[in-house]
Amino acid sequence: MVWERRWNPLQENWVTITGHRNSRPWSVPEKKIFLSSRDHEAACPLCPGNQRVSGERNPDYESVFIFDNDHPAFALPAPSNRVIKNSPFVSAPAGGLCRVVCYSPIHNKTLADLSIDETKTLIDAWADQTTELMSYKKIEQVLIFENSGELVGVSNSHPHAQIYATEFVMEGFRKETRAFEKSSSPLMESLLSAEIMDQRRMLYEGSDVCAFVPYFAKFPYEVFIVPRNRHQFLFGLSRSERYDLAGALNGILRRYEALWNCAFPYMLLVHQSPCETSHPAYHAHIQIHPILRGPNLPKYLASVETGANHFLNDGSPEEKAAELREVNIGLTEHKG
Ligand SMILES: [Zn+2]
Repeated sequence: MVWERRWNPLQENWVTITGHRNSRPWSVPEKKIFLSSRDHEAACPLCPGNQRVSGERNPDYESVFIFDNDHPAFALPAPSNRVIKNSPFVSAPAGGLCRVVCYSPIHNKTLADLSIDETKTLIDAWADQTTELMSYKKIEQVLIFENSGELVGVSNSHPHAQIYATEFVMEGFRKETRAFEKSSSPLMESLLSAEIMDQRRMLYEGSDVCAFVPYFAKFPYEVFIVPRNRHQFLFGLSRSERYDLAGALNGILRRYEALWNCAFPYMLLVHQSPCETSHPAYHAHIQIHPILRGPNLPKYLASVETGANHFLNDGSPEEKAAELREVNIGLTEHKG
């Protein structure tokens, strides 16, 4: 049983681990069907050949397909904002580009369902998008993320990631970059070697990439997937590193799905360096924040998390990592 506060050196904040509260009985999981049983949906704006709200028709794509989001949160050029002098109301333009990354033409094929080769192709696409979007003048950050599952508020069930390339750096990344830069020793390398030494939270140790539940996890089944070598951006990863990253990612997502044999809603973020200036201390990696703490039992971001910006994690990271390690996902494909 763990009951203590733990320091997250990347965000420079505390998380309270309250593992003792996790003994409440769980309800029997009702298998929640979110994914369609069909591999093509006539009404899906992401399926090949279908028309989107913009009026554009999707091509008959066969692999990864990327397009500009028809409902963008950020725009380029951004609508100009009205500055009110001598006022506490401060605003700035919401400048940026938003894209949608469909993983496959198949409407009900999730990221976990992709083969290692297909996952590697997706990582290549993410890396290429980063290169392209960084070339736009004034883009300061390229954030690639996936919201997966109804519980995370996803309105379109066709598996896809999103890209926000913005003219500003979001607060979490600003803090993380500052933490990397002010650390006297390479921060992620230190965390990674401490996790490898400890072993209790390790889930995957590949030749190039490792995955673990971090010591300071905010969510019970949170996982970091970290290349052993430091790169600021995905495009810095070699072919072999990308294959190992694909294998690690695929293995973790399959563990999630197999844990209770039900969909496992999560938020996945590719952490890459801000790009307005070079930050050689930044160590790119992937973070996955699943929102379940038990079958059908979501973790809500309630008063303390939302209002006080302090996470309470009901699960002990050591126990949750052990649960994930015990899941049988069969043989892992080895490619590359
Ligand atoms: Zn679809």
